[in-house]
Amino acid sequence: MSRAFNFSAGPAMLPEAVMRKAESEFLDWNNTGMSVMEMSHRSKEYMSVAHQMEADLREVMAIPDNYKVLFIHGGASLQFAGIPMNLAEQGDTVDYLNTGVWSTKAIKEASRYTNVNVIAGGQEANPTEVPDISEWQFSDDAKYIHICSNETITGLELQDEHLEAIFSQGKPVIADMSSNIMSREIDVNKYAMIYAGAQKNIGPAGLAIVIVREDMLGHARSNTPTLLNWEIYANNESMFNTPATYAWYLAGLVFDWIKTTGGVKHIATVNQKKASKLYQYIDESDFYSNSIKVSERSWMNVTFNLKNSDLDAEFLEQSKAAGLLSLKGHKAFGGMRASIYNAMPEEGIDALIVFMKQFALDNA
Ligand SMILES: *Cc1c(COP(=O)(O)O)cnc(C)c1O
Repeated sequence: MSRAFNFSAGPAMLPEAVMRKAESEFLDWNNTGMSVMEMSHRSKEYMSVAHQMEADLREVMAIPDNYKVLFIHGGASLQFAGIPMNLAEQGDTVDYLNTGVWSTKAIKEASRYTNVNVIAGGQEANPTEVPDISEWQFSDDAKYIHICSNETITGLELQDEHLEAIFSQGKPVIADMSSNIMSREIDVNKYAMIYAGAQKNIGPAGLAIVIVREDMLGHARSNTPTLLNWEIYANNESMFNTPATYAWYLAGLVFDWIKTTGGVKHIATVNQKKASKLYQYIDESDFYSNSIKVSERSWMNVTFNLKNSDLDAEFLEQSKAAGLLSLKGHKAFGGMRASIYNAMPEEGIDALIVFMKQFALDNA
């Protein structure tokens, strides 16, 4: 059986080396006679897995000592409520930049718990560019500023100039990095809290990673559910209740894989090369097009349209038959989307371009 190139936006493909390692340890981890899945989360064996995983994550992202790393159930979406509950009261104001569907979801949920000022955006459901910085309206008294660093559905990624404009406000910055965490180097020090669902660049679904500066802990409002209170996770090594043990283990294998492939710095070089190859082909072709502002195109999610959308179904059928899976775009945006996270090898991009060229020739 051969593995296909899976362009799913998430859950997404994992590195083959990680899957093989997990397979080899599946029935018997480290001569314990058990799978990691079958171990008590309090056992010495499992604690060694958990500690190694956290240490590797800290190393891979260069997370400073004054930050806690939390592993939380419920994906990134649960944090849409967790953020205002941990950092704001009902009557406070918080600032959110709206760059698309995921920003909108975060805003909608936060609005149930506090007053949300939208810095800019939101006029269109699926903007193809970040609102111009000159139009941004910050509030004076915001408890924090929230951004989505990569909008997964359209493939729109915030750039350094946007981040600098956000950081220059001097407020705690919260970032949803679900679809671009560990895709390039970032300075964790600039953020008060970073969160990401695991199923794109980290591991299996159901787990979210929260990286939070220590001074952000201890402010949760009194009616915050225990399992949404970051301080509880921090004080209990994320084991107040039973954690997603196997997902932690697999995430740990991915962090180890990042380390052994040269770290995020190296992966970023590969990611940039992969994305630019694909965009370059799309731009050259008159059969395909991408609608995102060129300087704000995502390295992780490459969306494109066929000139003639009547051919979409045929494109999807033939690409699947060629071992190129899950290229259908999100229904909210239409067209196609190739999600090319860290685990997608450059050969996957090459194979996709070869297929796209042939499909364009056959249907010219
Ligand atoms: C996928 C995604 C989410 C949602 O993640 P869940 O783990 O399904 O809650 C949130 N934000 C962004 C940017 C995403 O790509």
